[in-house]
Amino acid sequence: MAAKDNLSAVLRKVNDIQMEQREIPQPTDTEVLLAVHSVGICGSDVHYWTHGAIGDFVVKMPMVLGHETSGTVVAVGSKVTSLKPGDRVAVEPGVPCRMCDYCKGARYNLCLEMKFHATPPYHGSLTRYFAHPADFCYKLPDHVSYEEGALLEPLSVGVHACRRAGVTIGHTVLICGAGPIGLVNLLTAKAMGASKVCITDIDASRLERAKQLGADWTVQVNTIVNETSTQFADRIIVAIGGHADVTIECSGAESSIQSAIYATKSGGVLVLVGLGSATVNIPIVNAAVREVDIRGIFRYANCYPLALSMVASGKVDVKPLITHRFTLEQTLEAFETARTGRDNAIKVMIKCAQD
Ligand code: NAD
Ligand code: ZN
Repeated sequence: MAAKDNLSAVLRKVNDIQMEQREIPQPTDTEVLLAVHSVGICGSDVHYWTHGAIGDFVVKMPMVLGHETSGTVVAVGSKVTSLKPGDRVAVEPGVPCRMCDYCKGARYNLCLEMKFHATPPYHGSLTRYFAHPADFCYKLPDHVSYEEGALLEPLSVGVHACRRAGVTIGHTVLICGAGPIGLVNLLTAKAMGASKVCITDIDASRLERAKQLGADWTVQVNTIVNETSTQFADRIIVAIGGHADVTIECSGAESSIQSAIYATKSGGVLVLVGLGSATVNIPIVNAAVREVDIRGIFRYANCYPLALSMVASGKVDVKPLITHRFTLEQTLEAFETARTGRDNAIKVMIKCAQD
């Protein structure tokens, strides 16, 4: 391959992203070499930048950021038959061991040997070229754009959460938090047949966007009056006209998790997507005696194919999530935009391709 430029956005330490040239890797027998096209910035990329760690994952060595990726195959390993140079693909960023009970049991997101882009110590995709296992690349139909391909990553979080919640036709769904993750859950819940979706947030502009994306009701957190979580849940119940069949919590805020329990119907399901404080107070007896099942989710497993078919069939339009676009060279500005949320930023997209 003639290309030499492999400009990469490397997090060297807290608050220190450097644009550096890195060597272009050789794909192994089962990998493809990808020319990166689009990479979306996720809250976790920003958090590693500003804090240098998420929980037990600590950035100890320089790490390339980015994990919401699409690109073009430029070379294939000798055993790769599923893809060829020129194919446009979405990249599933986490590659598990394929050997353990979790992997064999189709819950590979729980694999202890998971190598996930831009989760230390593994490099991410904000670069011009990287190599990736062919079976974690999904060929995009011609009419699905690279940006939509990159957005299959957060959309897969929505697919996994809605599957764990058991969202089905006719459901009334409550989504707490209207950030990118709340919004992909809104889109997925609707695509899976939810009749009505109610969404909450502190931020009025985020609720406005949620309405444009199909939310039936929005309920804004009142930060001026010191409202209790039961009072907030009561406002949600009034808006919906009853309790939610399932609730998907996407803020991680303690008071929101509390309200989410109160606003879910007896026998319903609450899925915790938002990850905030490691320990929170929740009304556990209320959940227990009303048989509200509380389920966690961690990323996704086997969700990319469905996410892709939802986008390719037109059932879900993820394009309105993109509010800002930058080039790879403008990575710092892109991260600053994502960090501050300026100009009502939702999804900030970085184009790594130079065409
Ligand atoms: P975000 O910060 O952009 O969105 C969170 C939203 O919640 C914001 O709009 C914020 O205003 C709102 N919010 C804050 N307090 C609230 C409250 N009390 N009630 C209602 N809304 C409130 O983040 P995001 O990128 O949308 O991600 C959402 C959460 O999902 C984060 O905690 C993230 O870590 C988590 N996440 C988890 C997984 C997983 O696998 N479990 C995957 C991706 C993201
Ligand atoms: Zn495994």
